[in-house]
Amino acid sequence: MRILLVEDEQKIINFIKRGLEAEYYTVDFATDGEDGFLKGLNEGYDLILLDIMLPKIGGFELTEKLRERGIKTPILMLTARDTVEDKVKGLDVGADDYLQKPFSFDELLARIRAILRRGAPVKTNLIKIADLQIETASHEVKRGAKKIVLTSREYALLEYLARNKNRVLSRTQIAQHVWGYDFDTETNVVDVYIRYLRKKIDEGFNKKIIQTVRGAGYKIGE
Ligand code: CA
Repeated sequence: MRILLVEDEQKIINFIKRGLEAEYYTVDFATDGEDGFLKGLNEGYDLILLDIMLPKIGGFELTEKLRERGIKTPILMLTARDTVEDKVKGLDVGADDYLQKPFSFDELLARIRAILRRGAPVKTNLIKIADLQIETASHEVKRGAKKIVLTSREYALLEYLARNKNRVLSRTQIAQHVWGYDFDTETNVVDVYIRYLRKKIDEGFNKKIIQTVRGAGYKIGE
């Protein structure tokens, strides 16, 4: 899953970016509200982490502008001020949740997971597809009784496909959410990683979970 962090303090950027990358998230950042707005218009993000006090455009206004433009990406606000007015204002302009600084990293991760599973039918960290199980907090993957060891990129790809169960995802969508850079159509990195995943997830099982949709992309389905 790919996260946009809009924050002007380099120390906090480094801290959050390092921590999230260790949890297999892909992280881009913007250091002012204007850049945050331009990047936020890109629909390749699964979540925006947004500071309130920012140069150029503040967090409240930025949220309002993105929502006006029809951007539905979930927004988690990071606030240094502990006032009810700020929290209410953040939620009223269209943020999904807020977290007060300084926060514990574990709490940040838990809130991110909570926001990401909001659209899911089951509100737990466990994603089940046929006999495949993905524990999104610990990143443990099992097919039947077999434990599957994945690299961080393979895991990120699997989780993205699984969260969008039964939905066809284009190579561009997959590359944007999993690799986090503008997709170069010349590269076949998505196909290569799908092949790696199939080897680990589907090989030796009768039921193939990862499906190719000709001319469109890939999906994971029951
Ligand atoms: Ca700030």
